Amino acid sequence: MQIHADLHVHTTYSSDSLITPEDLVHYSKKRGLNAVAVTDHNKLEGAYKIAKETDFLIIPGMEVSSSDGHIVALNIKEPIPRGFSAVETVARIHAAGGVAIACHPFVFFKGCLRDRVCATFDAIEVINARAFPFKKSVNKAEETAQHLKLSRVAGTDAHYGPQIGYGFTVIDAEDATIEAVCRAIVAGRCQPFGQAVPPRLNFELTLARLLRMVTKKPPHLI
Ligand SMILES: [Zn+2]
Ligand SMILES: [Zn+2]
Repeated sequence: MQIHADLHVHTTYSSDSLITPEDLVHYSKKRGLNAVAVTDHNKLEGAYKIAKETDFLIIPGMEVSSSDGHIVALNIKEPIPRGFSAVETVARIHAAGGVAIACHPFVFFKGCLRDRVCATFDAIEVINARAFPFKKSVNKAEETAQHLKLSRVAGTDAHYGPQIGYGFTVIDAEDATIEAVCRAIVAGRCQPFGQAVPPRLNFELTLARLLRMVTKKPPHLI
């Protein structure tokens, strides 16, 4: 079956995101997705908590800050410590039963891996819908994926509900389970799609963050 999943979304369990568990499911459905990966910064517990509370297919994961740049780990059963090299982090993700994705490898302003992307990764995030500069980073990631023969995926790196789904991966999975989705990604039965998040939505995120700082309350989105 075809799974349409945004494989890179942060929730309020990442302190820099405004996406509540309710927003996550609401906007994922609204964008026509049937799965979403929760990839909070260096935290795993939120993903599992959210998965328990909904019937929507949540792929638990986290975004690990390796010493070489950010790495998305999907379907890990335990958190992966930050601060290790990319090679060591990928090995730890595999030991924890997970899938290692080189996320936004060629962007400005984020911890990106650049030439530290290597063949032991399972996949490369060819499209990160909030990447800057967008086209250039997609082209470079595409070249690297071909060169290293890695699976190609996409995600938004959403931190604000309406941003969800601008980057998504179509996955040809045997069934709608976390295991089947991850197996398909590793086997390369997946295709990245997407476009850059409109600047308006990034501006709204900045405004909403400011509002949250002032009122100390998350703004109501739904
Ligand atoms: Zn990142
Ligand atoms: Zn991220």
